[in-house]
Formats: sequence, C-alpha cells, structure tokens
Amino acid sequence: MIPYSTQLIEQDDIDAVVEVLKGPFLTQGAKVEEFEKALCSYTGAKHAVVFNSATSALLGAYTVCKIEKDDEIITTPLSFVATSNMFVSLGAKPIWCDIKLDGNMDERLIEKLITPRTKAIVGVDFAGKPLEMSKIADIAQKYNLLFIDDASHALGSSVEGQKIGSFADMTILSFHAIKPITTGEGGAVLTDNDEWAKELRLFRSHGMIKKELWNSDMVSLGHNFRLTEIAAALGISQLKKLESFVKTRNKIAAYYDERFEDEKFFITQKIPSNMISSRHLYPIILNPEFHCKKEDIFRELQERGIGVQVHYKPIYQNSFYKEHFGNISLQVADDFYKSEISIPCHQKMTQEDASFVADTFLEILHKYSDKGCSF
Ligand SMILES: *Cc1c(COP(=O)(O)O)cnc(C)c1O
Repeated sequence: MIPYSTQLIEQDDIDAVVEVLKGPFLTQGAKVEEFEKALCSYTGAKHAVVFNSATSALLGAYTVCKIEKDDEIITTPLSFVATSNMFVSLGAKPIWCDIKLDGNMDERLIEKLITPRTKAIVGVDFAGKPLEMSKIADIAQKYNLLFIDDASHALGSSVEGQKIGSFADMTILSFHAIKPITTGEGGAVLTDNDEWAKELRLFRSHGMIKKELWNSDMVSLGHNFRLTEIAAALGISQLKKLESFVKTRNKIAAYYDERFEDEKFFITQKIPSNMISSRHLYPIILNPEFHCKKEDIFRELQERGIGVQVHYKPIYQNSFYKEHFGNISLQVADDFYKSEISIPCHQKMTQEDASFVADTFLEILHKYSDKGCSF
C-alpha cells in the first residue's frame, strides 16, 4: 500500500536520536532550544516554542492571547478538529467561514462575519497552500483582531519567498508522523511577540520559574506539554531535510498536475507562481456526478494498493459540534467534503509510485464515469 502521506526516517535521523538516548538528558536539555533556534532561522519568526503536539500548541496559543468564554472565533470548517476544539475548550464559539475550491477559507466572506464579540481569525493552509496572508492580515488589523495560522500542513510553504511562520500573529506547526517533518508527536508556536513567547514557555511547563538553588515559583497555571530531547533531536535532523522533502513532494505534484491537465472529471488544487506549497496533501476535487460513487472509488483504490484519504469532514458536521452549536451547513465546504479525495504525495515516493497512482486513479475514475448511481 502506498500511503497518502508518511514519514521518511533515515540513518542520520536514527543516529541523532540514539545519541540523545546515550546522553544525560532525555528531557529539558539543550536539544529543545537548538530545535527552536533552527525553526526560527528557517521560518524567520522571532520565537519558536515547541510543544508535545500541535493540539497543545494551539491550546497554548489561544490561552496566551486570552481567548476566553463567549469570544467569537472566525475559522474554517475544513480542518482537523483540533483547530477549533482548543478554543472551544476555553469557552469560545466557532463562527464558520465557508471555503474556496482550493480548500482555504474564503477571505472575501470574513468581514461579514465580524461582530463586537469577534476576537480572532484562525485559518489553515489547506494541503500546504498558503492562505491569502496579506488580505487576512489587513482585515485583522482593520478590526483589531488576532490572526492565527494553523500551519500544521504548511511548514516549508512560502509566499513571495517569505516562509510560513512570519505572516500571522501566531503560527502553529505540527510534527505528527505524517506532517511535513516529524518528531513522532510534536508541535510549535511561532510568534514575534516577546510576551506571548514567555507565557507560552510557562504554559508548557507548569507555569514555574526557577529561583535560587532549590527554590522555584509557580506564577501561572500551566501543563506538562514539553517536547522530549529525543523528539527534538529528531526534529533538528528532519528540519535539515525539509527543503528536499518539499522538493520531492513538489516533483510528484507537478507530475500529477501534468498527467491530470486535460481531465474533465475533477479539478486539483492550483498553486500560483508566487507561492510554494509544502504539498502536504494532493487533493482531488471530483465533479458532482461522482459524489454517489466516491465510496466505491475509495474502496477500489485501497484494494489496488493506493492509500487514499478524505480531508476533511467539515468540523460542524461532528456530533459534538451539532450538539453544542446546532446544525450548520455551508455550501462549498459541504460539497468539498463530498468531492475531495487525497491521493499519495510524500517524500518516500518514487516516480514509478507516482505513475502507478496516476494510472490506477485515472483507470478507476474512468470506469466509474459511465456508471450511474446505485441508489
Ligand atoms: C494534524 C493537525 C493538527 C493536530 O496536530 P497534532 O500534532 O496531531 O496535535 C491540527 N491542525 C491541523 C490542520 C492538522 O492537520
């Protein structure tokens, strides 16, 4: 099975981890700081604070910028649930902004959703394609809102040569196994704000500061959301390869783009020439006539060894959200969910793998194109 995404771990990654295992510090040593410095120098952000997941990083980010009960957060439904779960856990309310056909939130709809209660705009760079950064930042500035970018897909992406991580007030990264680089589990908040960075470090580690000798003081409520030295060492090693991972995924994506250029049964996510996408995912947006056949197509692709996935069920369609926020339906997001299928695109793939995926995908799709719906 060729998975839709997977990690690439090589001997030097293993060596970096083993070195930590043989040393004195498995946690709270120098590797975490080294990883944070490397993230800053790669992205151009002033501060990087690493966490044990993007989910805890999101909770940290929302907490230190003081998102609280009854605040309204304008956000995208086309994401992993953690993006909104973490501000909902602080009592804030999601205000869903519909998306565009590229999977990113439609920045043209944001202004209409703003009320006196709006506190922040939280976007996701879907599949690695950067948001319309300057347009969203302008709206945020005009209405005095925070702009938070859940860039869990997008480490390595850039706009006009400027890397993700330097556009929003805070940018969240994920180092989960299948994300652009991995530490197994892990995440980070990037920000230029000194105060937030300081508070994020406290939030990550019990809110405690060291005083003299044995004395420490707990100055705020915190958690244990620390990343281990083992994970940080893997992160340092992986970050050195990010550029080559992005290059490989872009090669696969460019090959698909070429193969699919004349296809009439679906569209793909287009990346404008002023942007680079990490190509974390390669989303296919099937025409409506395939909606009723998507389950069959999905099943057959898996049977043929192609590990497809669907990104995402709109967050508001989950039971928890229906229960707490009622039934919501947004046209483009709902249709996108019916249409989308992500085919394999990752740094472990060969050209042969990509040809096999494209051939098999087209063959199966064409087979189903002249079958009616089996209601
Ligand atoms: C993966 C992902 C997360 C959660 O990341 P973890 O590191 O697994 O906690 C959050 N948001 C988005 C958009 C993601 O893709």
